[in-house]
Amino acid sequence: MECHCKLFVCPEEGCVKSFQRFSSLEHHLDVGKHKYAVESLTLLDKAMMSYASKLEQGVATVDNPVEDTGAAKAPDSRSSLSMGWALKSSSTKRTRLTENQEQYLTEVFKIGKQTGKKASPSNVCKSMRKVRSADGSSRFDSSSYLTSQQVASFFSHLASKKVVQADESED
Ligand SMILES: [Zn+2]
Repeated sequence: MECHCKLFVCPEEGCVKSFQRFSSLEHHLDVGKHKYAVESLTLLDKAMMSYASKLEQGVATVDNPVEDTGAAKAPDSRSSLSMGWALKSSSTKRTRLTENQEQYLTEVFKIGKQTGKKASPSNVCKSMRKVRSADGSSRFDSSSYLTSQQVASFFSHLASKKVVQADESED
């Protein structure tokens, strides 16, 4: 018995579609959605394989560095942690200047602005040890000496706040 069910086979090379009616084939050709059975399987296989290998690579790139950091870079990460902690604690100290310290640094900063000779933080922390109050006593005791980093930090704080510029505009 001759099979009449799939009379019209799509002429597109590789397409496995066949149709009982010619109009269906025409429609299929119009739409152009050819079905490449073998190739589509191959493409699917390739897609699956590349997806699988991507998964493996993804897993690999996620897993291996973690293991590497855990083993080889543990001392580094520990020291950077403690450094971060040290920086944090010192920056906390840095923000807590006494009124006396802030006044002095603001004065020095203003003078630097007005004279155009910016005081260097290292010179400021040296001069803090020499500067005296009106009554002749040391303005700062040894516990109030600031580091040049603290001075620089406060200067940048002043510069960002434009405290001094506001004062200057009053002249
Ligand atoms: Zn086709």
